[in-house]
Amino acid sequence: MKKRILTGDRPTGKLHLGHFVGSLSERVKLQHKYEEFILIADIQALTTNFNNPENLRQDIIEVTMDYLSCGIDPEVVTICVQSMIPELSELTMYFSMFTTVASLRRNPTTKAEAEEKRYGQNIMHGFLGYPVSQAADIAIFRAHLVPVGEDQLPIIEQTREIVRKFNNLYGSVLIEPKALIGEVGRLIGIDGQTKMSKSLGNAIYLSDSSSVVERKVRGMFTDPTKIHLGDKGHPDNCPVHIYAAIFNDDRGVVEETREACLTGKLGCVTCKKKLAVALNKFLEPIREERKKYEGCPEFITEILLRGTKKGRDEAGKTMKHVRKAMKIDYFRQ
Ligand code: ATP
Ligand code: MG
Repeated sequence: MKKRILTGDRPTGKLHLGHFVGSLSERVKLQHKYEEFILIADIQALTTNFNNPENLRQDIIEVTMDYLSCGIDPEVVTICVQSMIPELSELTMYFSMFTTVASLRRNPTTKAEAEEKRYGQNIMHGFLGYPVSQAADIAIFRAHLVPVGEDQLPIIEQTREIVRKFNNLYGSVLIEPKALIGEVGRLIGIDGQTKMSKSLGNAIYLSDSSSVVERKVRGMFTDPTKIHLGDKGHPDNCPVHIYAAIFNDDRGVVEETREACLTGKLGCVTCKKKLAVALNKFLEPIREERKKYEGCPEFITEILLRGTKKGRDEAGKTMKHVRKAMKIDYFRQ
């Protein structure tokens, strides 16, 4: 029996380079080795988008197209929509009964996100509690491994605590999962902020056209101490070099450029031009693949319906064990 992977994304927009290096490339690599489930977390998207739910439908389709264009094979990977599996909400509720508010307030991920969004005392119940919902997502699919970016580590840790607590209370029913961090745990944004993120508006999307990539790279934040061509740079702290080191497959060029920046022989404009070429080379096959799906939303919907049905069956199986362990399986057939 293959071990399981559960991972997912919030359908709050198209996927970007950060998703690719943080989690998506691992999902592609491991799709044949593990039984893989990808959950499109539309309920979790509502934690910040409850006032504009009309975008979710299209964003679910966009995210699915991004998966397929990066090489996720829908014949082996099960792609499900969170809100269409009501068992997830049921398990979230059971977990909520023994998860303390203090532990949720302490969670470094939600704490940082709430500060960024300036929620203060007006934090929503659903936002504060989203680690509980994520724990239910992972546990219901009986996943062993969760490929995520570094920002998600505290959430996986909280999932492990919740699962341990459940198992201590009711018996060993659920699996304690492990996080798997991608090749780059946290990709910096084009504006130099610590994380590329959809909601921070500092992303290069996997579906951006070559001219958009060129424009975004031209406007990228660079080492602020390097103002003139001859100034010595600090490439290891500069997003342009960081991206080049990840996405430029010509290691020789990356090393030469780094040396030339360190000694002040290379200006940022030339460096950015090289990066734009490298990124476009990296993204071109993904864009080409995406074209195949762009005109066929029915094909995407069919994949989602099929995946969600299978996901729901699996969730149903786990819930039978959960209810039995909790001794609340009364009056059922
Ligand atoms: P939002 O701003 O709407 O929260 P996001 O860009 O943070 O969007 P998510 O859908 O929250 O994206 O994250 C999906 C997965 O991608 C998570 O595993 C997350 O850790 C990973 N991820 C997102 N951004 C990055 C990044 N910049 N570097 C590495 N991994 C990332
Ligand atoms: Mg996020």
